[in-house]
Amino acid sequence: MSSDDSGAARAAAPARLTVDLGALLANHALLVRAAAPAAVAGVLKADAYGLGAAAVARALAGAGCREFFVACPAEGGALRAALPDAAIHVLGGLARDNLAQYLRLRLIPVLNTVEEAELWVAHAHGAAAALHVDTGMNRVGLDATDVERLVAQPALLAALRPSLLVTHLACADEPGHASIERQLERYAALRARLPPMRTSIGNSAGTLLGPATRGDLVRAGIALYGGNPFATGANPMREVVRLEARIVQLRDIADEATVGYGATHRVRPPARIATLALGYADGYPRALGGRGLASIAGRRVPVVGRVSMDYVTIDVTALPRAALAVGDYATLLGDGLALDEIAALAGTISYELLTRIGARVARRYL
Ligand SMILES: *Cc1c(COP(=O)(O)O)cnc(C)c1O
Repeated sequence: MSSDDSGAARAAAPARLTVDLGALLANHALLVRAAAPAAVAGVLKADAYGLGAAAVARALAGAGCREFFVACPAEGGALRAALPDAAIHVLGGLARDNLAQYLRLRLIPVLNTVEEAELWVAHAHGAAAALHVDTGMNRVGLDATDVERLVAQPALLAALRPSLLVTHLACADEPGHASIERQLERYAALRARLPPMRTSIGNSAGTLLGPATRGDLVRAGIALYGGNPFATGANPMREVVRLEARIVQLRDIADEATVGYGATHRVRPPARIATLALGYADGYPRALGGRGLASIAGRRVPVVGRVSMDYVTIDVTALPRAALAVGDYATLLGDGLALDEIAALAGTISYELLTRIGARVARRYL
């Protein structure tokens, strides 16, 4: 495909995700101010939460971001291609069969087990590594027993020379939650058993909670992308994404009728239904059938009937006929339809909504 073809494909995209990189950088600047003197690393796992890792990485690097976190080595490779000099940490899963990938791409493993530490020391010739201690998530990372196993091998620890001590909070998005204090206490105890190194505690919410939940390096994801870092309350971040889909058909319904699979929605005639080129295959949650919202010319209209693989139907009866034409875009996220509000309607969170937006949706950047 020539670049002209791909440009035309993008221009004619049935659905598109517009990423406001200016707003993303404003969110980054807010986090940098809040975190100081701690540094802010960008968390770009899952293709920068679905926004497009290369574009997001370049924008953040241009704003002075030097450190990044991704979930797996393949994501590290995509980031390395965009950022030849950045420090790229990989959160999960160093193994014999991907070790060469870490070394070739100069990725920094966040080691989760003693076995991973042994593997790294045996093969990495002193390359940098971080350690992840599990202080209460019970998910990944070294627990207190693992840390003692490591401490019992001074030669291993000396060869490893870990550069960063990571932990992750279970409830940073709920200020005052008792588990936060408990995790910080466990972190302090584990840290005291290990050689001095930089610390990394906070995610987006931890960054904004206060100095105790930051460490030397915070790991910010959702706040960069405009999601509310906290479970409740006003969102301090700027909106970054807008999801739009084209109207592929407009239908006037004069008689009793139903819309979509299962005939679940009964229209009250006379009604007007617009069909949009976006479905659950694009990551638009099926749970939003009969619950979702769209915005056209600044007015909210309801999603009616079931969401199907490639289409979603909205009731536009209340809109002036002149406000609508086949080929126009309707907004399904952003532009007054807040990420967290739509996620809640779908019974999920902003993180899942963003990371599921599919490959058919064209990304464009402002
Ligand atoms: C995803 C992730 C983050 C980023 O969390 P946000 O809430 O998106 O800021 C930070 N640290 C770890 C270990 C993660 O897995």
